[in-house]
Amino acid sequence: MQKITLVAGIHGSERAPVDALKKLGIPFVLGNPKALTQGVRFIEQDLNRVFGEVGNSWEHTRAKEILSEIPGGHLVVDLHTASKITEPFAIIVDLKIKMIILAKIIGIKKVIYIPKRFDFITGSLIHSIDGIVVECGGHEDVKVFNVIEEIVKNCQNQKFHEIEIYEVVGRNCNSDITTDFTEVVPGLYTVLTGAKSHRGGFLARLLRSV
Ligand SMILES: [Zn+2]
Repeated sequence: MQKITLVAGIHGSERAPVDALKKLGIPFVLGNPKALTQGVRFIEQDLNRVFGEVGNSWEHTRAKEILSEIPGGHLVVDLHTASKITEPFAIIVDLKIKMIILAKIIGIKKVIYIPKRFDFITGSLIHSIDGIVVECGGHEDVKVFNVIEEIVKNCQNQKFHEIEIYEVVGRNCNSDITTDFTEVVPGLYTVLTGAKSHRGGFLARLLRSV
C-alpha cells in the first residue's frame, strides 16, 4: 500500500476541501490555518510559492512546519479549489513512475504535467515533496464534496484508474477560449485557463492515456 498524506487549506480562501475532510473524519495536514481563519488566500506571501525558499514571512515558517508534519515515505495529495467553475483535474510536476501510480490511484481522469522548466509555479508543496495537486472544482461548487469523498475512497482502495496526462508545452497567448481541455489545434489543448496571472492559460499536448 502506498502511504498518502492529504493536505488541504494551503490557500486560506479554499475552505471546501478542509470542510469536506473534517466532515468525513479523515486526518489531514491543514496548510495555512491563519489565512483560513481570516478567509484570505495568504497572510504575507502565497504559501504555495515559498516551499524550499528562504524568507521570514508567516508562510515561510509554515512551509517548513508542513514539510516536517508529512511522514517519511508518504506521497502528498494537496487539495485545492479554483476561482472559477472547472471540472476536477490534477497537476504533477514530474513523470516519476510513483507519481503516475499516485495519479492512477486517486483517479482524477485529467492530469496536467507541468515540467519544472516552467517557472510560473516554483515553490509549491509538490516541488519540495513528491505528490500531486488536485483542483477539485470551483470554491463554492457543492460537487467538491463528492470529488473529495471519491478521492478519499480511492486512496483507501488503491485500485488503478485510467488517466490522461497532458504535458504543458507553452503559453496560450491569443486565445479567447476560457474552457480547459478544448482542442484548439490537433493534439493541443487549453489548460489552466483559470490561472488569474496567466491570461489565456497554457497549451498542453495529450501525452498518453495510461
Ligand atoms: Zn489553491
